[in-house]
Amino acid sequence: MKFDLDAVFVEHGCAGYPLATRILRALPRDVPVTHVADARESTRPASGARDPFGAGKRRMVIARRKTPFLAPCPAGSSEFACCGYLVLTLASNCPMDCSYCFLQEFLADNPAFQVYANFTDSFDELDRLIGNARGRSFRVGTGDLADSLAFDSLTSMSRDLIDFFASRENLTLELKTKTGEIENLLAMDPRGRVLVSWTLSPDAVYRSSEHLTAPPAARIAAARAVLDAGYRVAFHLDPLIAYPGAERDYILLIDELLDTIAPKEISFISMGGLRMTPRLRGAARSRFPGDPMLCGEDVLASDGRLRTFTPLRLNLYRTLADRFRKVGAEIPAYLCMEAASVHESVFGAAPSRPAIIGNRLARD
Ligand code: SF4
Repeated sequence: MKFDLDAVFVEHGCAGYPLATRILRALPRDVPVTHVADARESTRPASGARDPFGAGKRRMVIARRKTPFLAPCPAGSSEFACCGYLVLTLASNCPMDCSYCFLQEFLADNPAFQVYANFTDSFDELDRLIGNARGRSFRVGTGDLADSLAFDSLTSMSRDLIDFFASRENLTLELKTKTGEIENLLAMDPRGRVLVSWTLSPDAVYRSSEHLTAPPAARIAAARAVLDAGYRVAFHLDPLIAYPGAERDYILLIDELLDTIAPKEISFISMGGLRMTPRLRGAARSRFPGDPMLCGEDVLASDGRLRTFTPLRLNLYRTLADRFRKVGAEIPAYLCMEAASVHESVFGAAPSRPAIIGNRLARD
């Protein structure tokens, strides 16, 4: 296990699930395990902790999920040029600690690392989805409220997921990560149905803001390894941060990526500017007061989020899109949580409808 845990709580009725058995077997002996009747109390912020959110990341709670696992991407909205992504919530929170992470606001009231013992029930939901939409293809990701692979050496969830998706023609699984946790993946055959994506940032952002993540070069090396093992790969340049010297650093990062992975081997690239609600920015600045990446020029946009000043943001998008074009990379690229007008100004064309983009990203 690469990340430390202070404690594990197991909700009544969960101990018999294979996931709980695997975790309890692999757990270091010095991590205390407590069985509780109702897990909700264990997920709350620890009273008296100096950093309740940070403490929550080191407390694992194994519980049953009582609400659906599958949902449309919460970032999707009629305001944005959306990519038709579906999210599967199998866990919540993350043992890494990026200063800009939206989970600091979203999970402020229940920051424990929750993992759902009954996660394979989600497979019935997925079968219903494809049964009701014959002929359509869907890209489904597990990296929305958690990093898809951070605890995979403990949970081995990826093995069950890959087994399931490998046998479903119209589904593509996206495992999204900032780790190099690929051992389980290398032992499986994804049969072309699994895409692994890495969020990439320049070294300057990694060092100042992406605590406990794998270095960017290690993420690119892991991507090369899974590609060679039969997986598709994609990259998220998100959040793009417009700090002094950013353009040069992002171009170096793209060059480093394309030196290791040829453009034709990349399924897609997504880009998105740094965006934070005022409450998230307050929480981030108080947890990471010395992080210069949280101090850029921003404006309050109509969606209630602080976004990098538009000319700076557009400039960065265009610079990167041009760089991809210049090296002859015809990589499908999209912008996350941006208006159609921004998409048009960066790529010179209006975005396709979400269902069409989703279908394409799932199949290509
Ligand atoms: S790796 Fe992702 S989920 Fe984890 S802290 Fe960083 S931004 Fe948040």
